[in-house]
Formats: sequence, structure tokens, C-alpha cells
Amino acid sequence: MKKHLIVGIFAVGLVYSCATNPITGKKNFNIVSNTELFPTSFQQYGTFLKENKVITGTAEAKKVETVGLRIKAAAEKYLTYLGQNQYLQDYRWEYKLIDNKEVNAWCMPGGKIVVYSGILPITKNDAGLATVMGHEVSHALANHGAQRMSAAQLQQLGAVGVAVATGGKSEENQQIWQQAYGVTTQYGAMLPFSRGHETEADKIGLTLMAIAGYNPDESITFWQRMAAQSSGQAPPEFLSTHPSDATRIANLKALIPEAKALAAKVGIIYK
Ligand SMILES: [Zn+2]
Repeated sequence: MKKHLIVGIFAVGLVYSCATNPITGKKNFNIVSNTELFPTSFQQYGTFLKENKVITGTAEAKKVETVGLRIKAAAEKYLTYLGQNQYLQDYRWEYKLIDNKEVNAWCMPGGKIVVYSGILPITKNDAGLATVMGHEVSHALANHGAQRMSAAQLQQLGAVGVAVATGGKSEENQQIWQQAYGVTTQYGAMLPFSRGHETEADKIGLTLMAIAGYNPDESITFWQRMAAQSSGQAPPEFLSTHPSDATRIANLKALIPEAKALAAKVGIIYK
């Protein structure tokens, strides 16, 4: 009797593990579903915003909001094109600029985006910002953060998601979360995205920025500015086992024609 129960639970687990990510077309080994993960995400995002200085009402904050809204619209259009618009139904998009001189940006599950003011001199214009935000949103859409957590960590966080309703949270969970999503400021504590994840986020990001009406060619000049300023020291989210700047730029150049062609098929929203 007990044995059957265990088998039953395991079978439910298998349903999750066979879920295909609609944007990458890959089978994700996800132990927790979005409905379990999102409450934790929204709670962690809220905590982060409380503990950091959010910039509001400035031209730069508005720019983050405007570009974010356009990337959101592009993601919705792209997933609708793929016949998967329900994938975003539980997303609660937010785009916040925080006062922090670090060169960083990230997106937590469910569309919770933060841009650090320190990256703005490098993004320089809307297309540069769209390069960064498109890339970060792509990590979220492809579930990369969850994939770099261990199964045990994911299960723990899934349980936290349920506990959030009752206000449960712990230091340990916050740490796991911040490492998985690139929030932490300590380089040593970062869990880098794999090279494959970086390339995937670059590729999807180019398509999103193109659908959103930004010229993907501008991503090249953004990365050239990034390479020039970092000179050997990559910023946190990009501090990964990622290819060198020169390789990344060459990869982007090769991906741009495909992104433009796909965006033309999906439909370019803002012209
Ligand atoms: Zn990345």
C-alpha cells in the first residue's frame, strides 16, 4: 500500500521532469513547477527591492520601464507565435532600476527584472538596454536559473513556495536563490551560467529585441563597449564560463541574420 503511494508520487514527479520548455524546445528537468517557484521568486524580489535603493521617477528609470515593457510584449508575441502564450500566464512583470554601481542585471522567474545603474553607461542607449534586458529575460524564459540549482535545492525552494503564503523564509533559501539568479555581489559565490546557457540567452535575446523593434546589430556595439570597459574583469552576471568577448561577438554576428528573419516572421511590434 505504502509502496504504491511512493510510486504514485514518483509518477507525478515524472510529469514535471518531462515538461518541454516552449522557447528552447528542450525537455527541462524541472522538479518544481512555475506555480511552485513563482511565489518564492516574487517574495525574493520583494525582499531585494526593500533592501536596495530603487530609483523611481527619473528619465533613466522610465527608460528601464519602457524597454522592459517592449521586451515583455515581444516575449508574449513570440510565445503566441509558438502557440505557447499560456506559458506566460502567471508572469507578473516588473522592471526596476536600482542605485548600485555594479555592472549587473538579472531576471528572476516570472518576469522580475532588475537593472543596476552601473550598467547604464555601457548600455548607453535603448538598444543597448534591450540587449541586456532581452538576454536576462531569455535566461528566465528558458528556466536556466532553476536548471543550475541542484535537485535538492529545487525541492527545498518548492517547499518554500508553499510556505511563502504563511510568511516562511530563511537565510539559507535566500542565499541559494540569489546565487542561482545572479543577484549576489560576491564573485566567489556566483554560480555561473554555462556556456550553452549564455549562447542560448544571447540567441533568444536577439530575437526578442528584434521583435521589440530594436536593431540586433546594436548588440555588437554594446558588447564592444562592455569588452572595452571590463578589460579582463567581466561583470557578475556575465562572469561565467562564457566565451571570451571576441568569441561572443563573433557568435552574435552569426546569429543576427537568423534573429532578424525570425522576428520578421513573428512580426515586429514597434517600428
Ligand atoms: Zn547571461
